[in-house]
Amino acid sequence: MKIGTIASHSALNIMSGAKSEGFQTVLYCQPKRREFYESFGLKDSIVEVQSFDEILDMDTEDVIIIPHGSFVAYIGAEKILQSDLNLYGNKELLKWEEDRELKSQLMKESGLRVPKEFDSVDDIDTPVIVKTYGAAGGEGYFIAKDRDEARNKMDPNMQYGIQQYVVGTKVFVTYFNSLSRERIEVFGADIRYETDADANLRFDDRPSFVVIGNLPMVLRESTLATYFEMGRNFVSGFEELTGETIPGPFCIETIIDKEQNIYTFEFSGRIVAGTNVWIPYSPYSYLQFGEEMWMGKRIARELKELMESGKLESVFLP
Ligand code: ATP
Repeated sequence: MKIGTIASHSALNIMSGAKSEGFQTVLYCQPKRREFYESFGLKDSIVEVQSFDEILDMDTEDVIIIPHGSFVAYIGAEKILQSDLNLYGNKELLKWEEDRELKSQLMKESGLRVPKEFDSVDDIDTPVIVKTYGAAGGEGYFIAKDRDEARNKMDPNMQYGIQQYVVGTKVFVTYFNSLSRERIEVFGADIRYETDADANLRFDDRPSFVVIGNLPMVLRESTLATYFEMGRNFVSGFEELTGETIPGPFCIETIIDKEQNIYTFEFSGRIVAGTNVWIPYSPYSYLQFGEEMWMGKRIARELKELMESGKLESVFLP
């Protein structure tokens, strides 16, 4: 089997990891990015496509596709769910991630502390962040200091999710659930830097949460231990709710407030771009493996081990 992905997001991470574990690789790439990806030694991997959803009609039987953030954004969850691609991940989790209510149910039932949610503007009693439905990357979100401000800013024809605005430090923690080694690994932490929410100076009242990039973060060891528990609980929460597991990488997205309460506002059931800061290794992956181990390589190592033990099928989306 080959390892493939679409040329965006964490493709360099995934492709380089697959190559270093000896896999043949396929990179579905648009013409405008060809030169860029070739400059990273990926010339032989490139299969040119005009649009990423073309891969749904291609022969990909011998390719394990690694989904990443752009994958869902460009192709769409619906089409992915219906496709017969050999995707490394869990389709069921994708459904829980797409649906705001299911998402919040999963986080709560996994024992994670989530920001308070308000069904109606009338119930608002704290500063809030108002999230438009189906927004990608925080687009169209706004904050309001109280009920009146929220009411004034909301468009009555739009559907929103209203959440307590948690003041604190954003911490994104990535994990790897290894079915081959039957263990959860905490892989690394980062801060997602967002314009212009993370700029100190601002003149507007609708800060943009568009992600610019990621900064590495090394957590206090006691905090890391708490996150380890959270990751384990998240996987077992999902298993209890669905009877299925989460193979491979996933991320829990949190804010730690000044009392050191950890609020989880989001999760991703796949490789996240924050792992790009940990090439060639994170402190944690180095301690676990004693060698260079970035997320793309970790994925490839797992797939290799599962192939060797004849368990590869267990990680494909059903
Ligand atoms: P993505 O899918 O890329 O994760 P998204 O569209 O689902 O993004 P969120 O992750 O929900 O958006 O939120 C975007 C940003 O808004 C967060 O990174 C964080 O900075 C801010 N944010 C979200 N929820 C809260 C909250 N409850 N309190 C404070 N800030 C928040």
